[in-house]
This record gives sequence, structure tokens and C-alpha cells, in this order.
Amino acid sequence: MTSEIICVGTELLTGDTVNTNASYVSKRLMELGAGPVWQSVVGDNRERLTEAVGTALRRSDVIILTGGLGPTEDDLTKETAASLLRLPLYEDKASMDAIASFFAATGREMPEINRKQALIPLGAVVLENDIGTAPGVLFDFPLLRDQGRFYSRYRAVYMALLPGPPREMARMLDEKLMPYLRERVKGTALVSHYLTVFGTGESRAASLVGELQEGANPTVSPYVKNGSVRFRVTASAATEKAAEALTAPVLEEMKKRLGDSVVGVDIVSIADVAVNLLKKYNATVALAESCTGGLIAKKITDISGASDVFHMGAVTYVNEIKEMLLSVSHETLEAHGAVSKETAAEMARGAALKADADYALSVTGLAGPSGGTEETPVGTVFIGVHSKKSGTAVLKKRFGHGKADEREFIRELAAETALFELVKLIRKENNV
Ligand code: AMP
Ligand code: MG
Repeated sequence: MTSEIICVGTELLTGDTVNTNASYVSKRLMELGAGPVWQSVVGDNRERLTEAVGTALRRSDVIILTGGLGPTEDDLTKETAASLLRLPLYEDKASMDAIASFFAATGREMPEINRKQALIPLGAVVLENDIGTAPGVLFDFPLLRDQGRFYSRYRAVYMALLPGPPREMARMLDEKLMPYLRERVKGTALVSHYLTVFGTGESRAASLVGELQEGANPTVSPYVKNGSVRFRVTASAATEKAAEALTAPVLEEMKKRLGDSVVGVDIVSIADVAVNLLKKYNATVALAESCTGGLIAKKITDISGASDVFHMGAVTYVNEIKEMLLSVSHETLEAHGAVSKETAAEMARGAALKADADYALSVTGLAGPSGGTEETPVGTVFIGVHSKKSGTAVLKKRFGHGKADEREFIRELAAETALFELVKLIRKENNV
């Protein structure tokens, strides 16, 4: 089912009043499984209100209006709706009594103009107002049709008129209208979650997830993004909560099958996961980058609050600088070259020491397209990961497919791989 919200009041259009009712009502409609697809604000004007309500009746299943139920001349939501639906207004005795006792309770005399608030369109359901004078009105169209009061080809199934004051509106919505609708509206809520996997190709990841991808609810479908594989898990149910309950066990099972190649569910980026882990464990990181040219530093500093965890990012291209800034030994560079396991290890260790950081990442490799040897072809990247606790490890990778235009791709994958190595190490050290 689709729904629509119309908030009535010139003060909302002028900006004098913030339309808080709309977001409140939206959340309830989402819970109901009938998410709003239209939302509008109309001033206290009969023609425009008629137009807005008429349009809503033709295009939406559930319509909720707020505002314009007050006692004054400019409050005309009820009158407009009743005349559009050709339902006469009558003075509802119970509502009149409720309004009278509202005034009696506060020791005031009821002004004659409040009488208007007890007028109810014939056949409509009254929603009592426990904390104010204006009763709400619910047009239950199937019910109206059963009573022979209403013939139309409008799409609308329910239309409710609620008072404007947020307190009264919220209370009436929660206590009177929602219970009524919950019993009758069979909606569908869609919930999607994204599980990101890194370092495992799409076909391997898909084969691990296996038959879970054949399910109808939730559906599970993979797609590739920036070298990572993402699975979208989407469930539909009557409510958001029920849809969540359908996705949860499938996501858990997928995590189990995909093991430590899982970066996370609904992540922003690998760098974001890394920064959050560093924050969580009160740890810091330093970087020594060669072929990635500061890309890892950029990814980390893209995240607000990175200064809590990021100590230094050194882009060290020439050997002398690697020696000078990172204390990589001259002998190592002579014996093994800049693109080597040994150099990567010393770069990471040097960065951690220089910056007094708990963790350090280093990257040295050949992004191409020129250069490379048979032993160390273009795309070869050594990634060093150092931690105060676990010491230094180096990963040798070969990115790309030996094509000419892969420089960006190789650098991107090298940076993402390094960041994910950091994520995995922090998780391992903390048993999470
Ligand atoms: P009404 O029922 O139109 O007389 O509204 C009474 C009062 O409720 C207005 O003067 C506003 O202060 C407040 N109000 C009405 N509509 C909204 C809304 N959509 N969001 C927040 N406050 C509202
Ligand atoms: Mg008003």
C-alpha cells in the first residue's frame, strides 16, 4: 500500500512553523508497511486544499492530513474534505460533550466557535482527542461503501484528518489511528542490507554464498564495486521490523560462510571500517606509501575524526628518502631493491617508529604501465603491515591483468588491500 501526507497550515508554508508532523507521521507509516510516496504542505486555502486532497484520493491508498481542525474561520480541512466527498456534516453528540467537558475541566466557558469542532462528516469514524478540543476524523472508505454512503472510484482506502498541534496529533495517531490501521492495512516494507567482501573474487564469493542466492525472500544478489564484492540482501514483509527479521539470519549465515573476507554490513568504505576500529581500540596508524602516492592517506583523512587515529603518511618515492625518513637500510635497498618484501617490511616498521604509532602500513610496488621485469612484473605490490603487538608481515600481491591502462586500478586495489589488511589485523589482535 502507498500512503501520502498532507500538512495544512499557512504558517508551514511561510516557514514560521517547522513541519515536524510530517516526519512523525512518515515514521509511523513506514512501520505500518505503507511508506509515504507523496508529501505536501498546503496553506489554509479552500481551493488549493480541495486540489491537494482530490489528487491524493486518486493516487494514494492511505492519506493522512494534519492541521486545520481548529475552531477558527481559517481551519477548513474537515469542511473541505466533507464537501469533496459529498458527505454532510452533523453535530456529533459525543464530540460536543467531550469539548464541553474539556472546557469545564479547565474552569472556562466554551466559546461558541468551538461548536464547529464537533461537526463530523456523516459515516466517518471519530478519533477522540484526549488532550485537546479538536476530534480527528477517519474516512474508512470500505466501511462508507458498505453503508451505502459513498460511491466513487477513488483509489483511497483510508483518509484521516488529525489536529495540527504536534502533541495532540502524535497522541491521536499513536493511540487511536495506528491501532485501527494496523488491524486493517496489510502493507509491505522493503529492507536492504549490503554485505561487503574484499579479497575474494565475485565467483568464489558467490559460490560460498551458494543456495542463499536462490531465496525469494530475502533475495541475495552480488555485484562488484571497486575490487570488492557486495551482496545486496533485500527482504519484504508487512513491517520494517518483520523484514529486518528475515534478513538477519541470512546475513549471519553469509558472514559465517565468507569468513574473514567480510569487511562488514552496510559499511561506508574499508577506510571507514579501519578508522572506526582504530578509534574503538584507542590505537594509531602511520603510513609509508610509494606507488599509492598518498592514496591511503587520502582515504583515511576523508573520514571526519581521522586526526584521532592518524599520525603520519609519508610518500617516499626515492630510495634516499626511504632511508632518511623511514630508516630503511641502504643494504636492504641495494640487495633487494625498492620493490621488495624486505623494503616493504622496513618501511612499515620505520613509519611506526618515526610516528610512534601502534600500527603502520607500507606499500611499494609497480603501478606501470612502463617498467617491470620478469621477476617483478607491473602490478606487483608489496604491502607491509606492522603492529606493536604482532610485529611485521608482508604480503606480495599482483594486481591488474598486465594491460596498459591499469595504473589507477592497481593503485586503488593496493590501497584498499592495505587498509583491509589493517582491518583484519586489528580484528585478529582483539578477537573480533
Ligand atoms: P491547526 O490545527 O491548523 O490550527 O494547528 C494548530 C497549531 O499546530 C499551529 O499553529 C502550529 O503551531 C501547529 N502545527 C500545525 N501543523 C503543524 C505541523 N505540520 N508541524 C508542526 N506543527 C504544526
Ligand atoms: Mg491551522
